[in-house]
Amino acid sequence: MSRVGKDAVKLDSKLSSYDANETGVSVTVSHVMGEKAGTTTTHTGDVLIAADGIHSMVKKTCPKPQVLLPSVSSDFCCQVRKSFYGDEKPSFTGWIIWRGAMPIERWPADIPLEDVVTYGHSDAYMAWYPFRKDESGKETLVNWGACIKQGEQGDVAESWAQAGNKEEIGAHFGSWPEPCNHIVQNTDKIMKLSIHDRDPVKQWAFGRVLLIGDAAHPMLPFAGQGASSAMEDGMLLAQRLSETPSDVVSALKKVEEERIEHVTKVTVHCRNRGGILEEFVVVDKLKENSDEELKTLLDSKGVEHSDCTDTTSLLLKVLNCKDAWPESFLRKLY
Ligand SMILES: Cc1cc2nc3c(=O)[nH]c(=O)nc-3n(C[C@H](O)[C@H](O)[C@H](O)COP(=O)(O)OP(=O)(O)OC[C@H]3O[C@@H](n4cnc5c(N)ncnc54)[C@H](O)[C@@H]3O)c2cc1C
Repeated sequence: MSRVGKDAVKLDSKLSSYDANETGVSVTVSHVMGEKAGTTTTHTGDVLIAADGIHSMVKKTCPKPQVLLPSVSSDFCCQVRKSFYGDEKPSFTGWIIWRGAMPIERWPADIPLEDVVTYGHSDAYMAWYPFRKDESGKETLVNWGACIKQGEQGDVAESWAQAGNKEEIGAHFGSWPEPCNHIVQNTDKIMKLSIHDRDPVKQWAFGRVLLIGDAAHPMLPFAGQGASSAMEDGMLLAQRLSETPSDVVSALKKVEEERIEHVTKVTVHCRNRGGILEEFVVVDKLKENSDEELKTLLDSKGVEHSDCTDTTSLLLKVLNCKDAWPESFLRKLY
């Protein structure tokens, strides 16, 4: 910001249309607040970087890589069916998440506040961690999410802006051990959203237009990789544009080429629940084993377990030793 100046960022502008051709791009924005509210302005530039999130307006207008289909009228001709990313159908994952941030001074004194805690089972869990450091480097808030898997989406939108309430959460988590309920009760503002899945797409760069972040590669939040991937896109984009400022089209294409394979792998990893819930599933499955069976699993890998005095410590030991997990259920998990 210190380099481009604060006027470079227009917070009151919503992109309503754009045009991109061989010589440049123009965007028309509607002003949604402030003195110019209700009017529109057109800006021109070299590139359009669409970082407009999961409901990206720009992505909807981008053509999917075209498919050649045999024509219905003639065996000898082909017709190009043009389709756009706008017709993608997000599928509801079954997950609803409530989230909030509690001031850290409300944290209960008798419970240690650890870095990240995830508590629950494969169909419902709560996770929390301290964040937002002040100038002295001390965290000021506890960020939390309470997630349930339920069949119906109900009235819960795929949106950052929908308010939730403590009663709804209480119905699912009210009887859970503390600090679960304490965190919810001591949070002033609670939001809720439904989680949808989208297939990774094959193209992010369209001439002078580039999709980045969630617009290019929306991913499920279970591995906490979406924002970091968006930042990586931005870093690489800045680098490639600075290397070839007179050939911006190639610079945008390079970003797509260098990132798409890796980010698609991350997206698929997140779809497989990013490892977080996998552990719950493993625990649930391991619980079906008797203590003797757990010991046999550890013995088969030569893992010492004489320090395990109860079922919980045996379960933890097997959980932490992936080698000892039976191969049969590894296949079921992935
Ligand atoms: C519950 C949950 C937890 C998550 N936890 C993590 C985590 O721990 N770590 C992590 O890395 N990621 C996490 N993510 C993912 C992360 O939030 C997203 O990947 C990230 O916000 C994507 O950034 P973005 O800039 O691409 O899009 P967004 O953050 O969605 O920003 C898009 C912006 O574009 C604006 N916009 C949209 N349309 C227009 C328009 N027409 N004109 C102008 N502006 C427009 C929007 O108002 C918005 O400000 C989580 C996601 C969820 C749902």
